[in-house]
Amino acid sequence: MYYDFIVIGSGYGGLSAAALLVKNGFNVLVLESHSKIGGCASFYKRKDFLFDVGATTLSGVRNDQPVGILFNELGLKPKLKKIDPGIVIGMNNKSIFRYSDQERWIEEAEKHFGEKNQKTFWNEIHSIDNLAWQFVNKNYKLPIRNLNDFIAISNPSNLKFIKLLRTLFSSVEKSIEKYKFSDNTFYKFLNEQLLITTQSKIDEAPYLTAAMGLVYPAETYYPYGGMYKPGELLMNYIIQSKAEIKFKEKVIELKQVNDFYEVKTMKGNSYKAKGIISNIPIWNMAKITEGNIQNYFSKYSEKFNSAWGAFTINFAVEAKDDLPSVYFQIHTEKEIPYCNSKSIFVSFSEKDDFEKAPLGFRTVTISTHTDVNNWYGLTKDEYEKRKELAASSILNIFDNYFAEKLGNEKLFLLSGTPNTFEFYTQREKGFVGGIPHSIKRNLMFMPPNVTPFENLYMVGDTVFPGQGTPAVILGALNVSKRIMDKK
Ligand SMILES: Cc1cc2nc3c(=O)[nH]c(=O)nc-3n(C[C@H](O)[C@H](O)[C@H](O)COP(=O)(O)OP(=O)(O)OC[C@H]3O[C@@H](n4cnc5c(N)ncnc54)[C@H](O)[C@@H]3O)c2cc1C
Repeated sequence: MYYDFIVIGSGYGGLSAAALLVKNGFNVLVLESHSKIGGCASFYKRKDFLFDVGATTLSGVRNDQPVGILFNELGLKPKLKKIDPGIVIGMNNKSIFRYSDQERWIEEAEKHFGEKNQKTFWNEIHSIDNLAWQFVNKNYKLPIRNLNDFIAISNPSNLKFIKLLRTLFSSVEKSIEKYKFSDNTFYKFLNEQLLITTQSKIDEAPYLTAAMGLVYPAETYYPYGGMYKPGELLMNYIIQSKAEIKFKEKVIELKQVNDFYEVKTMKGNSYKAKGIISNIPIWNMAKITEGNIQNYFSKYSEKFNSAWGAFTINFAVEAKDDLPSVYFQIHTEKEIPYCNSKSIFVSFSEKDDFEKAPLGFRTVTISTHTDVNNWYGLTKDEYEKRKELAASSILNIFDNYFAEKLGNEKLFLLSGTPNTFEFYTQREKGFVGGIPHSIKRNLMFMPPNVTPFENLYMVGDTVFPGQGTPAVILGALNVSKRIMDKK
């Protein structure tokens, strides 16, 4: 069988690209190494409970944002609930409510961090975010690869976006000097908030992507049934359109042969297609290719040779009380052992989400950043010791904050390290969350979606525009437009 496109991987990047191609009449095959869709946004079940393995919050769902655009285009309606406050931040024995409404949030920020310049700062952040969304929606030939892309971007109607350029090359730290914030806790707040979005701190994060990251909790949505559920809609759309998704089909070789590509899988199967959309990280691409294609990905892998890993904990718990949000970031004074963060991100299932937990219970996903090097090259005993120490420290932070609201018993308690992510998603070294944004390696220098090889495209969080479900979906939307341009 000869396909128009083979999509490698069924994370949000791969599923979105496949659904868009199918909609446009292409004959598509999706090959997924795991037994389920979702990758970093996947799930597992234990009895009546369903646990998200990584991602839990959906954003970018407005009609002018990637998730909204994709689902509208396919005529699909995921069951979502807007969460307000989008996140509650527990720091210095206080709870800060990140309200959706801008004015209400500014009042809250002034209450906690002092009145000086909070309003001007947040108004600026929101206006950069707004302009940035307008820019990316209007310009899909990004990052600029050649003269044609340059001509497209040089359109006079883009002049109003020129002010964004400065924010791309200036760090948050530098950009906010003018505000002279004197409260150190505000810098800590910014650092930990940025770590979950740009994957970097204020000295490294470009002001542009930081603005988008800081505004994201204003539009946070909870997907009923699990983070994979909108992805399941995409999967059903693909299957109903008579395209195929094959599970447990790990791709181990990708070769360009004349004017088509040949893909071999671990099961010993071989498939051919005119084009490839790869949803696997750039580091993994270098392992399954050869010749010029391999050189291309090896160069990018060397240039972007590090990313964060994640330490996660899942369990179910009895909920005694209502909670002000389902998403929390809890800050701590000391770094968590073998993790490189001073905060944990906690997500609960909604109390009426009975696909995830029975009445009176909630499932919980906790995640924090870790350097992957903490978890490799260890004896089994040392690995288990570190895992135990990190987990108990995280659970301590959790228990201190939620003590009165939840039952004591933690059901189906499991923790995961970068090794776990590597095992289930195949991601090299368990690197997750894409390539950290920095002023030196900002958006425009990220590996592009279009490669120099005819009909070989990349989607996912290690290529433009980076990490998070809205970003990988934007990458898929851009790739589909590029392909349609050629049709
Ligand atoms: C702990 C954690 C929390 C996060 N929280 C959020 C959040 O709240 N909101 C948010 O928007 N984002 C969040 N993110 C980021 C988000 O999950 C990812 O950026 C996004 O899901 C990545 O999607 P992807 O399509 O690029 O890749 P992946 O999800 O990695 O999908 C790639 C797929 O390819 C498959 N695959 C790999 N190798 C092969 C092969 N050789 N052959 C066939 N198949 C293969 C994998 O099994 C996987 O299914 C979080 C990430 C982590 C780790």
